[in-house]
Amino acid sequence: MTDSLRAFCRDKLASLDERRQRRTLEPTARLAGARPMTVARGDRVLVDFSSNDALGLARHPRVVQAAAGAVREHGAGAAASRLVSGNHPLFALLEERLAKTKGTEAALVVGSGFLANSGVIPALVKEGDLVVVDALAHASLMTGVRLSGARTLVVDHNDTTAFARALDERASFARCLVVTESVFSMDGDRAPLEALAALCRARDAWLLVDDAHGFLVSPHEPPVARFADVVTGTLSKATGSYGGFIAGPRVLVDLLTSRARTLVYSTGLPPSAVAAALAALAVVDEDPALMARPRDLAARFCHATGLPAPASHIVPLVVAPGPGDEERALALMSALEREGFLAVAIRPPTVPPGTSRLRLSFSAGHTDEDVDALAAAVRKHR
Ligand SMILES: *Cc1c(COP(=O)(O)O)cnc(C)c1O
Repeated sequence: MTDSLRAFCRDKLASLDERRQRRTLEPTARLAGARPMTVARGDRVLVDFSSNDALGLARHPRVVQAAAGAVREHGAGAAASRLVSGNHPLFALLEERLAKTKGTEAALVVGSGFLANSGVIPALVKEGDLVVVDALAHASLMTGVRLSGARTLVVDHNDTTAFARALDERASFARCLVVTESVFSMDGDRAPLEALAALCRARDAWLLVDDAHGFLVSPHEPPVARFADVVTGTLSKATGSYGGFIAGPRVLVDLLTSRARTLVYSTGLPPSAVAAALAALAVVDEDPALMARPRDLAARFCHATGLPAPASHIVPLVVAPGPGDEERALALMSALEREGFLAVAIRPPTVPPGTSRLRLSFSAGHTDEDVDALAAAVRKHR
């Protein structure tokens, strides 16, 4: 390796260490036959409150069987971009099914939620256009925004007045895209979609909403597509599989099929991932009550620990804010791990400085007893 590259890596890592921001990968086994929501780390079996498997479908027997069957029938990989020869027929079934679930004319499946967001934004706006984006938008949305080259205004989280002020600049740009999330991944709160949609309509701005954490777990909320022009999502969370999608009008999907570089220049999903997603959607069709369960469990936990009622199945357990918060979050994580729970500490730069937290994510795969035991452990150690 070139000396200068070695030195570059070493210096960067030293500065991450100094800020306590170096990340490492922890082997975490998720065994198909194990009790739902448990994982093995080292010699410990832990109940996982950090996964995004919000409906417990990643290891559901029907989903596992569908994936295994698709591997046997179609092989392990798609072998090419969907635009070349990688578009096996399962894609059309899934896209039809996603469009129906989202209430849109059409949907387009891509490799992941990250690829959906980083592909769709540069296909819609460029230099000379304006993007107005919520400050807490996911890194994949920010990546798409940066790639687009559009003028970007980052506005205070969920601050409708700040969005309105940013949109006052709209007239100086050719096109304008407003970017936010339905349910925010690290805080679990919801965007004021109705107000944002009204602002966008008044200014001829397009509204893109990332529904990664709302999909299949927001049965009591109005459909996101009622407000958004473009909806993005992932198959990797409540759907229990892997992949991402963009949902919207047919003409938008037709354009993205030619212009979203993350679709055009990336291999199609393995057939097993598509089959697993289809099976997961079928499980939810047959048991729609499943969708309300994660948030009900989050509410049960919040009630037991004296936290305010949650807006979704995601509950941020922010440790006392301010300096040293990273260490406090890591200490609480270790204490809970000793009690049999996996609740991973989320630290800057994933969240703003001083707001390190355990991000708890409740799932239909958890039992009432799991949640009550976690609440007792949190009361004891917090
Ligand atoms: C997880 C997540 C993504 C990325 O989805 P993947 O399928 O995991 O790549 C995008 N946006 C938000 C808000 C997310 O939470």
